[in-house]
Amino acid sequence: MLKAIIDNIKGLYSLLVGLSITGRFLLSPRQTVHYPRKVIEPENMASYRGPLELVPGDPDPAQSRCISCQMCVRACPGHCLTVTKGASGKSPEVWLYDFTLCCLCAACVESCPTGAIRFSHKVYLVADSREALHLDLLGQLKSSAKQTS
Ligand code: SF4
Ligand code: SF4
Repeated sequence: MLKAIIDNIKGLYSLLVGLSITGRFLLSPRQTVHYPRKVIEPENMASYRGPLELVPGDPDPAQSRCISCQMCVRACPGHCLTVTKGASGKSPEVWLYDFTLCCLCAACVESCPTGAIRFSHKVYLVADSREALHLDLLGQLKSSAKQTS
């Protein structure tokens, strides 16, 4: 009998906690937008994790900061990354990223000693095949540098 009463009190308490959370969010400002009538402003995307991209180099934005050290490749739990060093120097020749395997954990970003990779803010990325999400990040870096020059 006593156990049943305690269980009921616990159940009621749990219900009230749930309802208070629901009520709080019901009255707080909306966190979502009615896409496509509205889109999220770029300044509100700072913490968004889209597919990885290479950070443009300075002064040449077509060059990556990557030194082909393989730290990100080793840190990645999903085996998403392939980085191959070029014949001359430390710059990578190949930088491939399989977005279909990525869980956006950030282990690669955090392990990079040169800050060469970051999450993009590509929120509207679409693809019609898995292969289309096997991304050549070095190629993307070079073509976006060409577009902005
Ligand atoms: S975010 Fe995580 S899963 Fe994705 S590439 Fe980086 S380490 Fe791998
Ligand atoms: S950890 Fe950074 S520098 Fe090393 S291979 Fe990855 S992206 Fe390049």
